[in-house]
Amino acid sequence: MRNPTKSNIEAKTQDDRILGVIEGNPSGPTVVVVTGLHGNESAGVDAAQNIFNMLDGIQPQIDGRLIILRANLPALEHNVRYLDEDMNRLWFPSIIEKIRDTPEARIKSNERRQMKRLLPILDSIEEGSHTPVVLADVHTFSAEGSMFSITSSDPRQRELLSNLYVPMVFEIEKSLRGTALGYYQEKGFISFGLEGGQHENELTEYNITASLLLLLHAVGSIKKQYVEKIKEYERHLKEHTKHLPVETELVYQHIIEPGDGFAMRPGYSNFQRIKKGEWLANDNKGKIIAQTDGYILMPLYQKQGNDGFFIIKENEG
Ligand SMILES: [Zn+2]
Repeated sequence: MRNPTKSNIEAKTQDDRILGVIEGNPSGPTVVVVTGLHGNESAGVDAAQNIFNMLDGIQPQIDGRLIILRANLPALEHNVRYLDEDMNRLWFPSIIEKIRDTPEARIKSNERRQMKRLLPILDSIEEGSHTPVVLADVHTFSAEGSMFSITSSDPRQRELLSNLYVPMVFEIEKSLRGTALGYYQEKGFISFGLEGGQHENELTEYNITASLLLLLHAVGSIKKQYVEKIKEYERHLKEHTKHLPVETELVYQHIIEPGDGFAMRPGYSNFQRIKKGEWLANDNKGKIIAQTDGYILMPLYQKQGNDGFFIIKENEG
């Protein structure tokens, strides 16, 4: 079986979107951390860099491979969500096929050119892996409030993520179409979104560093005693999320159409409880009222983005 090394992964790409590769004992799992699919979410890049610095050259070496990627380099450089189109809404087999078949010079959209470069790296990781690849797609959000994960309710994923002390939100991955995590889930990866906190909040980078390290422990890449701060990270995440429901599911998604003039009312944060009938936002048609009780998730306080807010409920199943 071909085992892509750092050098042969890098040989396929002319740029520096591979932030780091650590290869340890070959029988272990493959973990891919994707950061910067949205260019205004650099806390995830910094957190992944922390993980790399912590584990590169560690003895005993890690089990398996850890590959850290930065997805949308021009958007990261400009600190914007995207330049031409949302890079985390393009992961449809038909679009991907077209991107693969079109020479890069003829692709007009920045985000599709970025995918053209990212895809061969992910292909070679997949080919070189003998167990399901674990893919963590790291994001941050515009409102304040707690971190969470976006995942399917597949028992494999549920069991793994329960080790991270990060609330799980089910069903969003089905309603957000064209996401990388959905695409790789279909391909048999264990893939989930890690939403680390508000874009600029100082705690966000720490939250993501902590949960990525607990992930690497949960999949068996590292042992607790090898990483000095892992107990501290575990304590932090338990504390950060202790007042939150462990498992929730989507009940309502407010989609914004171009020209809607959507504006969230100020002061909402992630996992804030809301009541049916509550006045949440405005658009050109008037007041937007909560359709149901629940917790509000990812209320939008930035210009770019197509989802105004989500409402979730505690999972009873
Ligand atoms: Zn994002």
